[in-house]
This record gives sequence, structure tokens and C-alpha cells, in this order.
Amino acid sequence: RPILYWLRRDLRLADHPGLTAATASGRPVIPVFIHDQTVSALGAAPAFRLGLGLERFGATLGEIGSRLILRRGPALEVLQALIAETGAGSVWWTRDYTPQAIARDSAVKAALKQTGIEARSFGGALLFEPWTVETGAGGFYKVYTPFWRAVSQREVAVPDAAPARLRAPSSWPGSDALSDWRLDAPMRRGAAVVAAHQAPGEAAALERLDRFVETGIGGYAKCRDLPAGEGTSTLSDALSLGEIGPRTLWHRATEAARQGAAGAETWMKQLVWRDFAYHLMYHTPHLLSDNWRPGWEAFPWSTERTDPGFVAWTRGRTGIPLVDAAMREMYVTGRMHNRARMIAACYLTKHLMIHWKLGMDWFADCLTDWDPAANAMGWQWVAGCGPDAAPYFRIFNPETQGKKFDADGCYRKRWIAEGQTHPPETALAYFDAVPMHWGLRPDAAYPAPVVTLNMGRKRALAAYSDAFQRE
Ligand code: FAD
Repeated sequence: RPILYWLRRDLRLADHPGLTAATASGRPVIPVFIHDQTVSALGAAPAFRLGLGLERFGATLGEIGSRLILRRGPALEVLQALIAETGAGSVWWTRDYTPQAIARDSAVKAALKQTGIEARSFGGALLFEPWTVETGAGGFYKVYTPFWRAVSQREVAVPDAAPARLRAPSSWPGSDALSDWRLDAPMRRGAAVVAAHQAPGEAAALERLDRFVETGIGGYAKCRDLPAGEGTSTLSDALSLGEIGPRTLWHRATEAARQGAAGAETWMKQLVWRDFAYHLMYHTPHLLSDNWRPGWEAFPWSTERTDPGFVAWTRGRTGIPLVDAAMREMYVTGRMHNRARMIAACYLTKHLMIHWKLGMDWFADCLTDWDPAANAMGWQWVAGCGPDAAPYFRIFNPETQGKKFDADGCYRKRWIAEGQTHPPETALAYFDAVPMHWGLRPDAAYPAPVVTLNMGRKRALAAYSDAFQRE
């Protein structure tokens, strides 16, 4: 009897334990992707990027004699319908760790088992399953450095090779057409601009990894903080959709370290930050929705979406060039450099005193590499209410940050057209990327700061020192 292989955020062939097991079983495999509530809840850019990923993965499956079956509806109903249509005896999948996915998958597993269908879940999305990393006292980790120490010497399984073929069923069930799902519809911004910066699919991700290992990993520790450079792997979008597996990255980095690549360990530490975010989300799911540390309910953040500071921030028009450059990079490319994320998030939550949840939701709508755990952890870290958070007095000064990490102004010039006689294409693309109704033109004057750095810093310091005293 066939296996229904339920794909979610694991759109790859290699380093995919569940798919390897399905291939090894010798049984026919029916790969299926379900447009359920978790897909409907995606922000515009992640949904758009998912559409690109599904298109590529469907083609990849075609190359090994298989297909990607697309169905829409509540997961359990869809799976039961497919079981009835195909006579499948098993449903297998890779684990997903958001609270919503855990609740859904547990319900699916219980219901399938009741009807005699085998339901089996596999690892592969993370380096270390969240429940396998425990403190000496048997709890979970709340601080990154001891988490790193606990896992850095562990054996990580060698990734499986991609299957050469997937055994097809005697007949294929029907599939929706991907284009009918209109995953790009919520992109009211210029999807074509963002599309030009995407390289979806497993093959493209593996190529990026090769390039990074050849040319980037050695200098990673030095260059990763320079937003104008190409010092990082840019693999986060592929990791987020599972177009590449973390174990593949880990083993390549281990090999590079063995060959003496100076930045390899620093990069592995970043990969472990991703696992740490999942560890925290698994053990404390409120990471996604509430201040992680208690005592922050009364913090005077504004929660008004119409707050002029928030509106200016979302439009990349705060009048603080490094913050605006960061936001504009995101509209044009779907990504934002990590240092720029920290600076933009800090300006919102500290200088502008706007709730981190507004910023987190905005990123979730605009980032093609959106990841629920990394995004929430990043925002709570910057805002000061998260685990292992930045100390409250650490208020990034965008001017000092600019001097340190964008000394020649290259990043700012790349993304801000106003004031330049011959602005580069990238800066102009922002005006095509953002919604028309923002009414923005490159020849408009660059705005004055909505909140000056000095005033914003003083106000934030006062509020934060109160909050920490209350804690
Ligand atoms: P590299 O520097 O090459 O690192 C390799 C991989 O390690 C990344 O692809 C990523 O998977 C992981 N990683 C690196 N840094 C972090 C980190 N700080 N936390 C967790 N994982 C990390 N990352 C996302 O993938 N999706 C998000 O939605 C997201 N939102 C963020 C929001 C804020 C406010 C902040 C401060 C950070 C956020 N990050 C997010 C983390 C980080 O900015 C990105 O992972 C990184 O910029 C991706 O670029 P890269 O692939 O070139 O990373």
C-alpha cells in the first residue's frame, strides 16, 4: 500500500530522513502538500516564496519519476480523502515545532491511528530535537551559550543522499493547480521586484552553499556584520522552507573547520542559534505571542498601528538612514541583513517605543525567509523581554552602528535614493516594490527623523530602567 508523504516545510530530496525511509520501504510514495490553515495564516512574502518553492519542488519530483499532489482544506480531511482515493496505508511527515503544527499533527496522528492507518513523524528540520537537549537539572536551556556548549560536540547524523527515484503509485490522485492557489495574491507590493531576488529550490540552495563554503565561510567571522557586503550565506529562506537541511550545512561547516576555515565555527554557532530558537519555542510556545519574561505587561509600548512612528518605520521613512535602508532592503529583496534587523528592530522598540509584536508581525508579512521561531526570538531579544535578551541599556545608536559597520555609507546609498543625483537601481527599485497608495517618489525630500536619536534614547532608557527594576 502506498505511503502518503505529507510535505510541509521540507521541500527537498536530500538530507530528508522521512523521505529516505519512504524510499527504502520499497512502497509507492505519493508526495502531497496541503494548503491548510497554517498556509492561510502566512504573511504575504512568505506565502509568495512558498509558491515559488512549491513550483520548483514539483519540478524536482517530476525529474525522479514522481509528482507533487496539491490539495486544499483541513489536513485531516484532506489526508482521509486521499487515503480513500489511493488505498494508502501510511502517512509520514517531517516534524514541525510551532504550537499550531504540534496540535494539528497530534490530532491527525490520533485520528489516523484509530482507523488503522500508520502515522509516523521524522526529524530532519533541526540539528537537535528540542527535547534531547537538557540542562544538568533536567530542564530546558534559557541562555544560548550553555546551549551551544551542550550541543557543539554532539554527533550530527550524516545527511542522506537524495533518492534517485521515488516509486510511483499505479495511478495518481488528482491535484489542484498551484496557480489556482494564488499564493502571490496577498503581495500587494511589487512581487516582480522581490521575485528577481529569489533563487528557490534545493539545487539553488546547494549551489549557494557551495559558493559560501568556497568564498565566504573563511571570512565569515569578520564580514558577517557588514550589511553592504556578501559575508553571510543567505540560506535562511531555503532553510525556512526546508529546501536545504541543517545537517547538510553542519557537515559542510565541520569539514571546512577541519580544513582550517577560520569562520566555520562562528557560522556553526549561528546555525545553533536557529536550533536554540526552536528549542525555546518548543518549551515555551508563548515566545511567539507574549513577552517571554514575566513583568513586562505594563511596559509603555505603543500598540497602535496608526502611530506615526510605526507608519514611518513600515515605509522606510523614519528619517534615520540606516533604519530606512534596512526596511527598504526588505521590500526589494525579501531579506534584511542580520545587523540591519537588529538596528531596525531596536529603533522601533526603543527609540519609537512601539511594541515588538507590531514589528514581528510586519516582518512576518515582508520577509521571504520568515521563520516563526527565529523572528520571535530576534524581536524579543532586541526588545529586552526575551530569553537571554540584550541588556536594557544596550540601545543601538544607528549613527555609531553606521560608522562601525557601514563606514563608507555603501549600504545606505544602495537603498536610499533621496538626495542622490544618480541613485542606484536598488534604491529606485524600492519605489516599485512598495504599494502605490504610499504615494512615494524618488524625487521627494528625505524626511526629518520622526524621533531624534537623543530624545528616543533618553525616553527609552527611563522606561527600561523602570521595567528592569520591576522585574
Ligand atoms: P548566516 O549568517 O549565513 O547564518 C546561517 C543560518 O543560521 C541562517 O540562515 C539562519 O538559519 C541561522 N541564523 C543566523 N543567525 C540567526 C539568529 N540570530 N537567530 C536564529 N537563526 C539564525 N532569521 C530567519 O531565518 N527568519 C526570520 O524571520 C528572522 N527574523 C529575525 C528578526 C529579528 C528582529 C532578528 C534580530 C533576527 C531575525 N532572524 C531571522 C535571524 C537572522 O537575522 C537571519 O537568520 C539571518 O540574517 C539570515 O541570513 P543568512 O542566511 O545569510 O545567515
